[in-house]
Amino acid sequence: MTDGSPTQAVLGGLDQTRAWQEAFYRDLHQHPELSHQERRTATAVAQRLSHTGYEVTQGVGGTGVVGILRNGPGPSVLLRADMDALPVTEATGLRYASTVTTTDADGTQVPVMHACGHDVHVTCLLGAAALLAAHQDRWAGTLVVLFQPAEELGDGARAMVDDSLSQIVGHVDVALAQHVLPMPAGTVGTRNGAVLSAADSMRVTVHGRGSHGSMPQASVDPVVLAAMIVIRLQTVVSREVPPTEPAVLTVGSIRAGTKSNVIDDHAVLELNVRTYDEETRHTVLDAIRRIVTAECQASGSPKEPEFELFDRFPPTVNDPATTERVRAAFAGHFGDDAQELPLQSASEDFSDIPNALGVPYTYWGIGGTDPHSYQVAVAAGRLAQDIPVNHSPFFAPVLQPTLDTGTTALVVATLAWVGSTR
Ligand code: ZN
Ligand code: ZN
Repeated sequence: MTDGSPTQAVLGGLDQTRAWQEAFYRDLHQHPELSHQERRTATAVAQRLSHTGYEVTQGVGGTGVVGILRNGPGPSVLLRADMDALPVTEATGLRYASTVTTTDADGTQVPVMHACGHDVHVTCLLGAAALLAAHQDRWAGTLVVLFQPAEELGDGARAMVDDSLSQIVGHVDVALAQHVLPMPAGTVGTRNGAVLSAADSMRVTVHGRGSHGSMPQASVDPVVLAAMIVIRLQTVVSREVPPTEPAVLTVGSIRAGTKSNVIDDHAVLELNVRTYDEETRHTVLDAIRRIVTAECQASGSPKEPEFELFDRFPPTVNDPATTERVRAAFAGHFGDDAQELPLQSASEDFSDIPNALGVPYTYWGIGGTDPHSYQVAVAAGRLAQDIPVNHSPFFAPVLQPTLDTGTTALVVATLAWVGSTR
């Protein structure tokens, strides 16, 4: 086919990929795998990529897969999908619902479900990879398709980066990724600048001196110390972060003591921090350490406090020029179905990849909700109650037009770089 634009020519192949994509998706949905356990998924991905002519590297950062298709001189575009599922009991009632249980990293038996739609991401990226491979006469450059483990833990992208990812992928000009969200299926949403928050959890252990509850003069009371810290931490967002910058600091847990007449010798606080840029993130994390250390000193604590960071996600901040290029391509192809994506409070580790490679990126949303149900929920003012969100046991993207839209979005965005060279 040589008529029409590269986009029309490449997407003309959707009629051939749709049937296997839908079957692949149902199979994946029925066989979800937890973070870092995505072995069956990775094998299926690698097989499909090899059959379509991609140079495949498996086992990157554990279960990660990288496929490369070189098609002459031109830009190199990296497209990323995440592969992992969640320990959730599926309640969708779908014919292809998961009934899988498995052993998690702690040795506990847990249910598994694709409750975040990563099965959609994998299926769409495989479809786009196949479509672009089948029409190499309509574009020039290099495609790097990357299938990442363990997004839900926030360490899968980092694991691939630390496993020589930059050597495997070589030169890359831009990185692109998408997520299925509770928006009407058939729509896509782009956003310039901050799009997802950074998340940091911190475990703080402060030390006191244990004593009988009737003899406080012999103690350094960690309960009072922890209480002072909680109050003082309230000033971080209100007094140290500019009012124009969104930030959240929550003390989600405090543990100390076992009995009313015993003063314990330590307390443990667990904090969660959400920010939208690196500067604010450092301001908040530094302030926590400063305040905790100073409160320990004020209490006469016998030992330095301990800080342990966990469940960390970087902020996702879309590059303006990259986002504008994708936005314009989407507007041209999707028309009114290309919208502005609202700021999301969730977090992602995708940006670890472009940040490590030193390349710009953009991350967009695609709808997965039945458009009619969505309209009914909006009209009834019951969007939050009636439309299941990601991580819900009821999260069930409609097969179509979700898969077609996600596949199309990847093709349209990719061709905005590699399609103009021929
Ligand atoms: Zn998720
Ligand atoms: Zn997700």
